[in-house]
Amino acid sequence: MSSKREGEVIAITNARIIDGTGNPPIENGVLLIKNGIIVDLGTRGSVEIPEKARIIDVKGNTVMPGLIDAHMHLTGMKTGDFIKEPLITPIGVFFARAVADLKALIDAGFTTIGDAGSIIALHLKYAVLEGSVIGPRIIAAGLPLSQTFGHGDAHYLPVEWVDYRTTKKLTPLMGLICDGVDECRKAARYALREGADYIKIMASGGVLSEKDRPEYRQFTLDEIRAIVDEARAAGRFVHAHAQGSEGIKNAIIGGVKVIAHGIFIDEEGIELAKERNTILIPTFSITERILEVGEKAGLPEWGLRKCEEVYKAHIENIRKAYKAGVKIATGTDFIGGVFRHGENALEIKMLVKKLGMSPMEAIVSATRIAAEAVGLEDKIGTLTKGKLADVIVVRGNPLSDIDLLLNTENILLVMKEGRILKNKIRET
Ligand SMILES: [Zn+2]
Repeated sequence: MSSKREGEVIAITNARIIDGTGNPPIENGVLLIKNGIIVDLGTRGSVEIPEKARIIDVKGNTVMPGLIDAHMHLTGMKTGDFIKEPLITPIGVFFARAVADLKALIDAGFTTIGDAGSIIALHLKYAVLEGSVIGPRIIAAGLPLSQTFGHGDAHYLPVEWVDYRTTKKLTPLMGLICDGVDECRKAARYALREGADYIKIMASGGVLSEKDRPEYRQFTLDEIRAIVDEARAAGRFVHAHAQGSEGIKNAIIGGVKVIAHGIFIDEEGIELAKERNTILIPTFSITERILEVGEKAGLPEWGLRKCEEVYKAHIENIRKAYKAGVKIATGTDFIGGVFRHGENALEIKMLVKKLGMSPMEAIVSATRIAAEAVGLEDKIGTLTKGKLADVIVVRGNPLSDIDLLLNTENILLVMKEGRILKNKIRET
């Protein structure tokens, strides 16, 4: 990052360090950062602090890796009315709101986001990279791929308004409609052409798509294989919206790396996920919010109804997957507005509450495993020598009270790649 001060050494001292690996915390720890990279960590005395270092004494509070939401959408949407709002609002307004959302995410301790489909994120990524806008690192899918009559084909609109390549009205949730192996290859290449960091596909029907259901299989195995092949050829991976058991299994067999939602994952799907090291992102947070505020927010009635119908099974099936040892990462599926960015730590709490994870396991899901889900496990996700210094300081001990992470007042310091973007700690 251009704003990184060359040669700067920062020593975070007097810290309870949760390193994101799942190892027990280091008490009275020191974390040493140089040029935006973690160069050392350990208990006081075991880390040599250079004389010129800037000391940040965190007074016994907790230091951990920056949080990661590995499935969300930066859309700038304000309401839950995704039929009317996108059509009557100019695209620039959505961008402006999303810039504010990026700031809220930093305030909440999120230093990386995996955007699972939105041109807003695809373009704002560059503004964040060049330092013009403050925000988390954005790993963006950009334009999601959907079949005709798929979850990403907004069935209530004329079909030519839905595809990014043919529409005359840009909206935050545009995608690419493709059918058959050849069109799927071309759409994958088009998404990459537009700057996608990974490819997002709709492998099943969904809750918030009018005429289909989560159980419907979407894309054939051959179509998925073709898309995965194109992603791999370009050094990328595929992340699938998959809710029905057939769509989930097709996606895993087809080589998809990340399964989002996974509502009806069955025994066979669980075995496949374990075998192939597939990561599951349940996104309980969006369902919680839809059930709380969806009706008031203008969500269509059919969406609300489907949400209520599937939630119980969703929790039960993901619990089985978790108990069987499938990797689980955090993702909220929040889109902004009523499904507010900045409250994304809710998913960490949901993993504890709905699945029975320990706070430590849920933190690992939001750091190490979420980093893997966005393809950055070598660079971020744990406090490890040589990794980028994405670090937050949390008031108190989230291992004894996971709710601490939900209140942004408790996020005392946020550092991305060694650059401090939020600081409420008085330095001596
Ligand atoms: Zn999503």
